Amino acid sequence: MGYVFDPAPQASAPVAGEIMRLPVRRIFCVGRNYAEHAREMGHDDREPPFFFTKPADALVEDGTTIPYPSGTENLHYEAELVVAIGTGGRDISEVDALEHVYGYACGNDLTRRDLQTAAKKAGRPWDMAKGFDRSAVVGPIHKVADIGHLDQGLIQLTRNGEVKQRGDLADMIWSVPEVIACLSGLIEFAPGDLIMTGTPAGVGALSPGDTAVVSISGLPDLSVSIADE
Ligand code: MN
Repeated sequence: MGYVFDPAPQASAPVAGEIMRLPVRRIFCVGRNYAEHAREMGHDDREPPFFFTKPADALVEDGTTIPYPSGTENLHYEAELVVAIGTGGRDISEVDALEHVYGYACGNDLTRRDLQTAAKKAGRPWDMAKGFDRSAVVGPIHKVADIGHLDQGLIQLTRNGEVKQRGDLADMIWSVPEVIACLSGLIEFAPGDLIMTGTPAGVGALSPGDTAVVSISGLPDLSVSIADE
């Protein structure tokens, strides 16, 4: 049995030190996971974690120049630690959670902030604010076997060389094990799932011609540029 037209290619991410790539299944994202960012968005800093998704084929690799997205006049950057799941499962305990992690990467959760603000106000879904084409910038996956687990250290974003976000992974409201435990009670993880773990304070706009670089202690920088109009 075939298909009535060619299926899309498998979404994937490069793996540092490997010729083979990580097949990406789904991209889960954590909302408001750093207290200062939650406050800058007008929220209490201790709400339970909540999640949204991006399509796997929204992936953008390091060093890419993307067109300015349609439908927005306020495209925002969000520097994030990305967790790659290697072993699936559901109802995973916090104690066992890190055994399910294959590796880590830098990420940039590109956001149509104007559409998100309108959706929040109307009580509507965030999909078109968060899950649009080329909205998931993710660097090469670095294996736990090579770099260990990342639970503290600098997370920073520069726009055109100027520091705009500066935080510490230790300041996540919900730690990586807590996020995995919580999310695995809502969906069954599969190998290749990615989790974007939330952004520190200092989010802001990207314009045509801008370059955003995410730095996380223990990982190489992740760069994305917006094409000139
Ligand atoms: Mn985010």
